[in-house]
Amino acid sequence: MLTKIELFSEESADKAAEILKNGGIVAIPTETVYGLAANALDENAVKSIFTAKGRPQDNPLIVHISNFEMIKPLVTAVPTLAESLAERFWPGPLTMIFDKTDVIPDVTSGGLGTVAVRMPASEAARAVIEKSGFPLAAPSANLSGKPSPTTAGHVFEDMNGKIPLIIDGGECAVGVESTVICFDGNKIRILRPGGITAEMLSEFAEVEIDKAAETAPNPDERVISPGMKYTHYSPKANVFVVSKRADEFRKFRESRKSENAWFLSCGDYGSGFVNFGETAEIQAQRLFKLLRTADENSVETVYVESPDKSGVGLAVYNRLIRAAGFKVVDE
Ligand code: AMP
Ligand code: MG
Repeated sequence: MLTKIELFSEESADKAAEILKNGGIVAIPTETVYGLAANALDENAVKSIFTAKGRPQDNPLIVHISNFEMIKPLVTAVPTLAESLAERFWPGPLTMIFDKTDVIPDVTSGGLGTVAVRMPASEAARAVIEKSGFPLAAPSANLSGKPSPTTAGHVFEDMNGKIPLIIDGGECAVGVESTVICFDGNKIRILRPGGITAEMLSEFAEVEIDKAAETAPNPDERVISPGMKYTHYSPKANVFVVSKRADEFRKFRESRKSENAWFLSCGDYGSGFVNFGETAEIQAQRLFKLLRTADENSVETVYVESPDKSGVGLAVYNRLIRAAGFKVVDE
């Protein structure tokens, strides 16, 4: 199959919608990362997403809508708290879990009785959903396990020959996937940290952060968000999070500089370092791209100065620690 990349326009969005209406899959930009989209209500279309990505069948997909009315047939009820959060954070990088109706096929929800729903802010994503006329299941448009794509070029690297069309909407503004939350009585539980932070959500209710956000999953424990148990975001390079800051991290590099390695620093540390970014927002935008670029440069090892975990930093750390397979240098 020939894979075309077309800049986002009314025409390319029409083309994408046509493919989707015929049960096909296309890649679309969103403000978080690029998504691999199919009609969320069409079992066969959704199955092609799993095939193209090589994604485990029990890892459910997020269903994307473009207006609030679209959620109604998908879920049994929208709690008042969810309605308030939708009003404040939708469209945007927040995914909420609801009890699902039979409209959602089992493949989309990974066999769970619940469904994850998000309204993206990206104009391109919304245009494609609107033109299609149905909600889109859209996980990240990378091969399962690889770093998520934040440019159309990244999608092409992973999906060339597997899908007919990639809509190019430029670089993703947030750069890491959405915050996934569920409701636990009147509490909000963060299953996956993202661009909408615990601090922002705590204005509305008590917030609990699932252990999976920072630590390795325990194989004996039931995981509420199946996606958090898989190896993720891994480049070919061997990634380590280094629990040393500033001068300590500089010294660390001195001791390892003969290696074929990159040293990602949380700021401009000058030659010998690759600047990961001063703020969590910048680090989120750069993380996946840097991991892919390290592979293009045949870098063997990537050492990353442990970033600050507050705000969006928790999402950065969550992706980074998974990319590192939970390997931390702490000597
Ligand atoms: P991705 O599509 O790659 O952004 O991953 C979607 C994330 O949302 C994964 O971590 C899933 O486990 C999580 N997710 C999707 N649906 C549900 C659900 N019904 N309950 C809990 N987590 C979900
Ligand atoms: Mg993904």
